[in-house]
Amino acid sequence: MPRPVARGGDAVSERFVRQERLPQVGAEGQARLAASRVAIVGCGATGSHLAAILGRSGVGSAAGGADGGLLRLIDRDVVELSNLPRQTLFTAADVEAVRPKAEAAADALRAVDPELRVEPAVTDLVADNAQALLGDVDLVLDGTDNFPTRMLVNDLCVRDGTPFVYCGVVGIEGQLLVVRPGGPCLRCYVPELPAPGALPTCDTAGVLGSVVSLVASLAAGEALKILLGSDDVRDGEVLVVDGWRNDVRAVGLPVDPDCACCGRHDTAFLDRPAAATPTALCGRDAVQLPPTGAPVDLDAAAERLAAEGEVTRTRFLVRVDTPDRRVLLFADGRVIVGDTKDASEARSVRARLLGE
Ligand SMILES: [Zn+2]
Repeated sequence: MPRPVARGGDAVSERFVRQERLPQVGAEGQARLAASRVAIVGCGATGSHLAAILGRSGVGSAAGGADGGLLRLIDRDVVELSNLPRQTLFTAADVEAVRPKAEAAADALRAVDPELRVEPAVTDLVADNAQALLGDVDLVLDGTDNFPTRMLVNDLCVRDGTPFVYCGVVGIEGQLLVVRPGGPCLRCYVPELPAPGALPTCDTAGVLGSVVSLVASLAAGEALKILLGSDDVRDGEVLVVDGWRNDVRAVGLPVDPDCACCGRHDTAFLDRPAAATPTALCGRDAVQLPPTGAPVDLDAAAERLAAEGEVTRTRFLVRVDTPDRRVLLFADGRVIVGDTKDASEARSVRARLLGE
């Protein structure tokens, strides 16, 4: 648990006066939140709400070098127009500027509280970087839209004893589960990766902003209670939310003694090499291709792509809008090819445009 460290200045107590008045928080609790180190994986629909609630609550605002508070926001994509109905940290200007979600979210939170120690990570969380991104935090929150990433996070958190709050929303339904040492883990609930197409996604079923806010608020509340050391954390049960009728149902989840992760300590997702396979991005008619390992020269790519369409160059990426599609090349070597769900078509587009 984070040690209590106070923020300096009178403005701090004024900012958090209503939180500190709560017997569940108090001045000591507020100091604990400030000293907490939290990673949020994914800054999309649920992730941007989680970041907003934790950041505004003062999580990760205590100074103190490597021991200070931290709010790390990890996301692999840029802000798109279709995100704005739900993702309240972002604006039309972020879409126009082709801003990575992690960076745009971090700036939005710094504008709310300049003392926040918020750290954007514009990257895909994979086995190769999971330890670096999640190994130094007190708690991990799930803002992703896919089970391979959730399983990876679950493996690392169970191995290290780091609390992890899973949440997900599709259509008008959501679910959340607190994973802590001694309790059930995500693989006690979902033992194996769901087969592609087996579950509805926000692509196929749609999603409603009010439901996203509701489920993310419940998950953020569990995270705050864990950081505060509360006895009221909802351990050992899945909360199932019907966000249309506004029902929240608790379904008991026993620890599975045969669970591959928490029972047999098989951290298969952590042992996999970085995603060598293309990923269809949920909520987006696009395919992400992993880095090829070739050095990335954004300036050279921008120059080369100018003949193909309209090029936008930022310090994180190059975007080209050709007559038939949109393609993003990130500084870490990833490529997102738009207007397709087909991996081989995405590869051939990359080969044609980038010569890889
Ligand atoms: Zn388990």
